[in-house]
Amino acid sequence: MAETRVDSIERDVAEVLVSKEEIMAAVERIGKAVTEDFRGESLIVIGILKGAFAFMADLIQAIDLPMEIDFMDVSSYGTSTTSSGEVRILKDLSTTVEGKSVLIVEDIVDTGLTLSYLTKVMESRGVKKVAIATLLTKPSRRERAVNVDYVGYEVADKFVVGYGIDFAEKYRNLPYVGVLKPEVYEK
Ligand code: 5GP
Repeated sequence: MAETRVDSIERDVAEVLVSKEEIMAAVERIGKAVTEDFRGESLIVIGILKGAFAFMADLIQAIDLPMEIDFMDVSSYGTSTTSSGEVRILKDLSTTVEGKSVLIVEDIVDTGLTLSYLTKVMESRGVKKVAIATLLTKPSRRERAVNVDYVGYEVADKFVVGYGIDFAEKYRNLPYVGVLKPEVYEK
């Protein structure tokens, strides 16, 4: 086995949940479905920062349609103890969505708070239709019903990192989705 460097990020990973190959299979599957479903539409693909950037970059290349892309950054304060929850827009779109067909690209749907809010925001802006694509979903954690149209993989209720998804802003550059060793959180 190759020697593990002290500065390698891979040495902090306890378990790989979704391999690079599995991610790329999901990207191809979802890309094909979106290509079929949005044919002839005025499509805008919206990535939710920062976690969705890696999935967004691969997914748009698997969609064989004319499209615009844009990004939004939102922060969610929803917890199981705050029933109302609060979502704030930290960075809004730089293009208009009125009359367009929107595909929101997310890394993980967890409680569903972020996406139920964003779906309402899009509808209030007069979109023609809105659909959601997520790499991962944790159905056991859902507090708000969200209609997720395209799902890569269901995962258990574990804190995951990699392929764009962070812990304390790190590990986004892992090429797969995994779980960190417990001691990483104690550093
Ligand atoms: P929701 O509003 O559905 O609860 O929030 C979804 C967001 O929570 C995701 O976009 C992601 O930023 C964050 N999130 C949920 N589960 C995880 C996880 O396992 N790891 C990380 N790093 N973020 C998560």
